[in-house]
Amino acid sequence: MRKLIIEARVNEYMLREQGNPHVPYTPEEIARDAVACRDAGASILHFHARKPDGAPDHEAASYAETVRRIRAASDILVHPTLGYVTLDATPEARLAHVIAMAKDPATAPHFAPMDMGSVNVDRYNAQGRRFETTELVYRNSTGTLMHFAKEIRGAGLKPYLVSWTVGFTRYVGAFMEMGLLDEPGFLCLCLTDNTFLGGHPGTLRGLQAHLDFLPEGRHIEWTVVNFGGNLFALAAAIIAQGGHIAIGLGDYTYSELGQPTNADLIRRIGEIARDLGREVATPEEARAILGMR
Ligand code: ZN
Repeated sequence: MRKLIIEARVNEYMLREQGNPHVPYTPEEIARDAVACRDAGASILHFHARKPDGAPDHEAASYAETVRRIRAASDILVHPTLGYVTLDATPEARLAHVIAMAKDPATAPHFAPMDMGSVNVDRYNAQGRRFETTELVYRNSTGTLMHFAKEIRGAGLKPYLVSWTVGFTRYVGAFMEMGLLDEPGFLCLCLTDNTFLGGHPGTLRGLQAHLDFLPEGRHIEWTVVNFGGNLFALAAAIIAQGGHIAIGLGDYTYSELGQPTNADLIRRIGEIARDLGREVATPEEARAILGMR
């Protein structure tokens, strides 16, 4: 069977105070984690730039500095965020830091994300039976996505497609039909547990509902994330069905395992894969699987 692509989602906007001191913040910490995750079997690193106190850092220079350090230290493929809550930013402004980085080989990422639709991202507090915010929308209009597809292709990067629900996946099919996205598509099926309600639940049925609607007749390499929940319960099913895995402390602190590092999570996924007869892909092998130049 095809080799398994493991992506390390090292930090998102997770705070160490939420239960795990190993969440990396600074460019140095993220680059160090990149090396450890690569050694443990990850071929892609996803990160959000953060300030030393953990606050979100939206500066283009911070992204460039982080990618520069990762690329100098490791051959792991780099997948930076575009920034999470979009508010009123224009499509050009949202993509600007990625396009700028792509012009310099020392800071060029390999992927740029495209979430193929819009979704509410207010955190739900189940214990308190309330939403902690009520106006956070991850907004990706059709026009914005068409702009992203053109610009990301023009910059020579691979679009990292994300589907929160089946409707997002249908957009992937339509964009392929329109010639805006190339095959193989790399599609992340985003399950959401506990705090975010915008995705399918992190269960076998939540996953299967996604898989039932993958675009017909298209070459899609799919990976799975559980944003806000534990992905291990699904890992064997994903690996056995030919999917890939995206996991890390950014999504969930994994307190069931104590206080694991990102590399600990990657290593465990690699062990499960080998038990099921699937080897783990190197960055070079991941590029070949995903049809990247
Ligand atoms: Zn992210």
